[in-house]
Amino acid sequence: MSIIENVKKIKEEIAMAALACGRSPEDILLCAATKMNDSTNVRQAIAAGVDCCGENRVQELTQKLTDNAYEGAPVHFIGHLQTNKVRQVVGKVDLIQSVDSLRLLEAIDKEAARQNLIQDILLEVNVGQEESKSGFDLEEVPEICEKISDFSHIHVRGLMAIPPISHFSGENRKFFQKIYDLSVDITAKKYDNVWVDILSMGMSGDFADAIACGSTMVRVGTAIFGLRNYG
Ligand SMILES: *Cc1c(COP(=O)(O)O)cnc(C)c1O
Repeated sequence: MSIIENVKKIKEEIAMAALACGRSPEDILLCAATKMNDSTNVRQAIAAGVDCCGENRVQELTQKLTDNAYEGAPVHFIGHLQTNKVRQVVGKVDLIQSVDSLRLLEAIDKEAARQNLIQDILLEVNVGQEESKSGFDLEEVPEICEKISDFSHIHVRGLMAIPPISHFSGENRKFFQKIYDLSVDITAKKYDNVWVDILSMGMSGDFADAIACGSTMVRVGTAIFGLRNYG
């Protein structure tokens, strides 16, 4: 299957998942997780109609930006970001989805101030409380949202989560539901500089479940590009 055919099929599946729970297909954006794919593949995915691209590594982002690979689509950062690399990401991407610590918030705010811009971000939540994953604890998020008003160069647009690897369909719904509940909670509290219009959750294996639980953005890699070659 080609990238174009894969994107078409995924969009159909997104639409079916949306309609099945009374949602509108247009309310769910498809973010192509482009890690380890070259500029040619990225361009094909954009031509096929993905809504945005998500990059994991600073080096790949920089390379593909130099190549103009993302032309025609917004680009997001979705990987773990080290504070010493914020300069290469802030102002270069439309959204940093993977903000996982107070230190990183501080570094992004400082760099955004230096560049005289406001950086949109999502707060990443370690919803399965896994050692191997970064992200805020669920309970921590309201406290962090309260602190956002101290950061005049950051706007929070929502939440991002990567639940544990699931072994059967539906297994991750409890995690997606927790993120949705948290988003309702945060919205009700009306924190300064915090909006929750984006819930970025769901990947190749579980995006239909994520949509059933309120996801507004699914990040899909394998189902678009095929298996990644880590060799
Ligand atoms: C790689 C990646 C994805 C996509 O995963 P697939 O299972 O290949 O669809 C989504 N989100 C993040 C943060 C990723 O690193």
